[in-house]
Parts: sequence; structure tokens; C-alpha cells
Amino acid sequence: MVIPGEQPFYASVTGNAPELDACRILVVDDDASLRRTLPRALAREGRSFDESATVADAIAALERQRYNLILLDYRLPDGTGLDVLDWLTRHERDEAVIIISGEDAIDAAIGALRGGADDYVRKPYHLAQLQRTVESTLHKTTLEHANQAMSQRLRASERLHRFLVESSPDLIFTLDTEGRFTYINPRVTQMLGYERASLMRRPFSTLVMAEDVDRINSLMFARGNTPGESFNVELRLRRNRETLIEGGVESTTVSLTGIPMPGSKGRISNGLYGVARDISERKRAEEIITFQAYHDQLTRLPNRVLFKDRLELAIAQAQRRTGALAVMFIDVDRFKLVNDTFGHAEGDTLLRGIAARLSTTLRRGDTLARLGGDEFTVLLPDINHPEDAEIIARKILEALSLPFRLEHGDFRATVSIGIALFPRDGDTAEDLTRHADIAMYQVKRSGKNAFRFFDTELNAHYRERIALENDLRLALERAEFELYYQPQVSMKQHRVVGMEALLRWNHPAHGQIGPATFIPVAEEMGLIGDISHWVLEQACAQLALWRKEGFDDLRMSLNLSPHDFSRKDIVEMVTECVHRHAVPPAQIEVEITESMMMQDTIGVAAKVKAMREAGLSVAIDDFGTGYSALAYLQKFPVSTLKIDRSFVRDLDGPSTNPIISAITGIARGFGLHLIAEGVERAEQAETLRILGCDIMQGYLFARPGTAAQATAWLEVAPQPAMPH
Ligand code: C2E
Ligand code: MG
Ligand code: MG
Repeated sequence: MVIPGEQPFYASVTGNAPELDACRILVVDDDASLRRTLPRALAREGRSFDESATVADAIAALERQRYNLILLDYRLPDGTGLDVLDWLTRHERDEAVIIISGEDAIDAAIGALRGGADDYVRKPYHLAQLQRTVESTLHKTTLEHANQAMSQRLRASERLHRFLVESSPDLIFTLDTEGRFTYINPRVTQMLGYERASLMRRPFSTLVMAEDVDRINSLMFARGNTPGESFNVELRLRRNRETLIEGGVESTTVSLTGIPMPGSKGRISNGLYGVARDISERKRAEEIITFQAYHDQLTRLPNRVLFKDRLELAIAQAQRRTGALAVMFIDVDRFKLVNDTFGHAEGDTLLRGIAARLSTTLRRGDTLARLGGDEFTVLLPDINHPEDAEIIARKILEALSLPFRLEHGDFRATVSIGIALFPRDGDTAEDLTRHADIAMYQVKRSGKNAFRFFDTELNAHYRERIALENDLRLALERAEFELYYQPQVSMKQHRVVGMEALLRWNHPAHGQIGPATFIPVAEEMGLIGDISHWVLEQACAQLALWRKEGFDDLRMSLNLSPHDFSRKDIVEMVTECVHRHAVPPAQIEVEITESMMMQDTIGVAAKVKAMREAGLSVAIDDFGTGYSALAYLQKFPVSTLKIDRSFVRDLDGPSTNPIISAITGIARGFGLHLIAEGVERAEQAETLRILGCDIMQGYLFARPGTAAQATAWLEVAPQPAMPH
């Protein structure tokens, strides 16, 4: 650590300079007897003597050696004592010199004092006088040397401290009592981009960001009067605008320690000594950590923790000004389908896209958060009427009306929104969020892609729903499911030609529960795959049994849900089961609904085709309730159409019905089987028969029944109940 161009500062501090430990005296005199007697007369412990007779001798001795003292005769054979003094001056030597001269040269000798001699003694002299002069000169020079060494050490120490301060990685400065810079180290240039000279005598506040000035001033000048009481504060220092690169950060965050400097004699403050450490890196790291703790990684939206925080704050504020606020719970419809079918990367892209669209519908001050998965929440901290929340909800639904571009193609995402209001629906963050969640569930159950406000009745439903979910999870392993069968009767043949397998849940506490109640729940919970597998297995086994009993051309219909079609292996799953039970594939009829075909994101068409190629039958259930049925029929090579119950219901009395005529026409044109569902009255059956529909299913013949009941119907075809 050597400062270039200077001797190492520690060299002089540690006292490496040529110093004399013992006392050496040089006697220069041409009088040989004097040269002999003087050393004896001046002898002391630790003293040694050399002698020279001429100027030349003396200089030769001085070149070899340093002395504490020279006793120098003025008159010398080859010159005068002045020549020796000259030499000493020229060589910057610091030997003390006492001139010894006779009366005749005394004026010259006195002149020599000015030339650097320390004292003189006139010949002839008393020995005692010479001794005194020698002692006092030696004493004086010892003091002088000590003094010199001391100031050298001081200079070195000053250099050291300056070095420490000037090369410090921290900003170090001093302020006068008015708070103006009296010293600032060069670090300021690097840290803030100012020339240090430009800051001298300027107030410290020039470097402080406007927002921090008051705080800092009061801190510095309130405490500044108590010497020695230091303080520590975090603040932002302003960077020099002129040297700031485009888009650079305006300020540097520092941790500042201020120490009031005591005045002389311990009087009141003499200004302030400050050390400021750049902590912007640490701050940034802290900010990142905080951000991660409070934000969702994927969408960079606030997370559950931050949302709860903001909601609690908003509730407190609303309470104070007796205002209102709204919480929305938003769940993406059918998100699991996208994730399972296209993979997580596409799922993530979709979520990011949805987050971006949702953001555009909100105002400053509203908070959009992602709770995880496909769940988002919105806080509207300041609304006047419930309608304000309704407007936002409509905006959200509308913002999602355009499809998202995914790698696999366009996807139109919809959401279900539940809304809870403060103070009406709750006064804690938990209650409001839960109630918005319940309202959202209600939207899911009644068709999705809409919004709904919470009402207290929903709460009860919600509790039921939770209980249902828990029971449903256990239903399969507890063998609580049962397949019922409803016969499909041919009017011409007067016998049962097919059976539709319809699922029942024998709940231990609630009795039998219909599929309309629990199938949607199972779909949402991701349980439908296992349930469908069980249904398929059961239906194939039953058909095999009936075939063994001789009903070998019977068809078995079973219902699959859209979720089943999102499985890659749905076709293999069905064909494997059919082969294992050795039933002809054509006798198994898979029912799919029109709505499944309408949004063919998961390749239902291709799977239907594959099923048909494997020889299976495929029926369109509830046919006619969707639209542009004809277009689908070209794309989906199905084998059967089931006329929906709603059309059958309208058939009162033998009359022509345009829709049913159209459907029978289509079936004939495409060579498809036709089955009428929901036939309840004889008149309906009669009309259907006239319109050309032969196979019917409905309460008129039989309600769905157990396997044993169904077996009985196979033996004796169920008779139409008499009209009442
Ligand atoms: P779906 O496939 O249209 O089944 C016909 C529904 O109409 C059955 O209701 C049946 O009991 C009822 N039904 C039959 N004849 C009449 C009638 O004359 N009048 C009236 N009003 N209704 C009649 P269910 O058994 O409650 O099933 C409801 C729906 O649940 C089914 O509609 C089907 O979409 C679904 N489903 C049933 N079993 C399963 C299954 O194993 N898996 C799947 N994924 N869905 C199933
Ligand atoms: Mg069906
Ligand atoms: Mg149906």
C-alpha cells in the first residue's frame, strides 16, 4: 500500500531514519596536543572522539561518518573552519558545530555562527567553559532532533489518516455548524458524480432528495448540538443530474452515521463528522426479496398475502369514512382442461394473458391479485353502489371475449366471478374473500362465464357443497356408486333393443343422489376420470352377462363427460375394456353431448373418428339443443342421434312437428339411428312413431332401474303406462 511517488509513510513512522544512538564528537585542530587533551577533558560514558588536523581530513571523516558535534578550529593549515561549515551546508548535514578560534579571528568566527555554527569558544579558554558550551550545545541538538523526529512522525501519521479517509469506500465529510461542507472525500465523485470542490461550503441538504430534507435537517441539527452523541439514519442522496446517464437512478441509498464534533475545550459542537455507506445494492436485494414474498412469480401480480394486507387496510379506511368496498373472486373456467391437454407452458401463457387483460379493466388504486392456480381476486377499495362492482365485472367478462392466441391455436377463455360487498356481506378480509368465493362457485354451477353477488342463502349451499366434495372423494372406494339402466324400446319389434347406463350414488346419509348433482362436482374435482372408468367397466360386464343369458344383440349406451375426452387414451381405455369383456364394439354406444363438439379444442372429432374406426357406436345426446347440428354431423361420424327431451315434451297430440321432422330427415339422410328421449305420454310416442322414430326411451316405458329390474324388462318388454 505505497502511495506512488512518495516514500512509504510507515518508513518514517517506525523511525528508520539514520539516527545516532551514542554521542560522537569530531575534533578538528592542527594543534596535536589539543587533539590529545580535548577528548580526555570531555570524556563521558557513551562518548567517542575522532580527530582531524586539516579541512580535507575533516571532510573525509564527515563523509565516512555522522557526528553529534564538531569542535572546529577556525584556522587550519589548508583553509578555515568556514570551509567545513560550507561543506556541511551543501550536504544538508545537521551536525552541531562549536567554532574555536583565537582572538585575531574572532570576528570571522562570530560570522561563522550565522553560517550555521551553533556556538563559539574563544582561545585561550578555560576547560570548564568549553565543557559548559559542549554540554549545552549537545543538549540543544538532542532537543532539536527529538522535535524533528516528532514532527516527522506527525507528518507521516497525517499522511496515513489522509490516505485512509481519501481512499475510503465510504463517503466521508465534515460540516460546519451551519451544515455546510468543510471537507468531503473523493468518493463523492464516484458515488454521486460531483466534483468535490464544487460542494465545498455548500449545505449538506443539496445532496439530499427533496422528500428526505426535513427529516434529515431536524435530525442533524437537533442532535448536532450535543457533542459525541452520534446518530444513524438511512436516506437517499441525490446524484448529479449532469453526469447521470439516460434512465439512470436518481439517487443512491446510504446509511449515514453522523458524529457531532466537539469544539475546543469540550465546548458545544464544532460541526458534524459524517460517514455515508452506499447500501443501494443491499436495498435492491431487499426489495427483490420483499417483492417475491408479496408477488406471484408467474404474473408478477400481488399474491394472497399482499392482497389480504391491502384488503385489511381498505376495510379499516372504509370503516373510518363509512364507505363501501367490493371483493371479487375470479376463477378461470375449464382452465384444468387447457393445462391437461396442452401442457403447463400453454397454461402459464394463458394465465399471463388473462392477468394482463384483467389489469386493463381496473382503475388505479384497485388491486388485482393471483391467489394461485387459476384463481384471481380483485379489490375495489372505493365504490359508491354495488352497480360499480357490476360495471367492472361486465368489463372483465367483455375483456375476455376475444380469444387468446396459444401455440395450439386460439382459445376463448371465460371466467366466473363472485362479488362480496363491505359492509353488507362481511367486515373481515376472510369473510369477504370467502363469500366472494361462494358466489363464484354458484356461477360455476349455473353455467359459468358470468358474475354473481353473494347472498346469505349461498352460504348454506356452500357448506353443503364442501360436505359433498368430501363424501364424493370416498364414494368409489366405499362402493357407493350403482349403475341403473333405462330401456330403449323398439315400437316395431315390441322389445328392448338397448339400455342406457345411468349412474346413481347411494349416499349413506342422504340416500340416492342423481348424476346431475354430483357429476359436475366430480368434473371440477378431477374425479370424473376414475368414475367414468368404473362406469365403463360395470356397463361392459353387465352387457357381457346379458349376452351370456341370450340377449346377444342388445346395445349398451353409456355417458362420457367432456373431461373424459381430454384424456389422450380415452379411445384405448374404451376399446380395451370392450375387448376384455368380449363384447362386440358396435354394441357399446358412447354418448357425447353437442356442447362437447361445439368447442373442439381437445380434438373430440379425432377421438370420435377413432372410436368409430374401432367399431364402437357413438350417439349425440340431447340432440338439437345446440346449434348448426348439420355442420357437426359432417365432422363427427356418429352413429346415433338422441332427440332431446325438450322437443318430445312439445309433442301434444298427433300433429306434425317441424323440428322432429327435420331431425328424422337428417337421420335418414345420414343413415343414423334415432332414439327419442323423455317419452312420457302415449300421445308423444304415437306422434314420434308417425314421424318415423321407432326407438324410444322414457318414463312411459320405464324409469331407470337396477340391473335386476332391467333383466326382467329384457324378458318381458315393459308395457307403456296407461295415459292418465
Ligand atoms: P342423459 O344422458 O340425457 O340421461 C337421460 C336423463 O333423463 C336421465 O336422468 C333419465 O333418468 C332422465 N329421463 C329418462 N326418461 C325420462 C322421462 O320420461 N322424463 C324425464 N323428465 N326424465 C327422463 P339422470 O339419470 O338423472 O341423468 C342425468 C344426466 O346425467 C344424464 O342425462 C347424463 O348426461 C348424466 N349422466 C348419467 N349417468 C352418467 C354417467 O355415468 N357418466 C356421465 N358422465 N354422465 C352421466
Ligand atoms: Mg345420456
Ligand atoms: Mg339425454
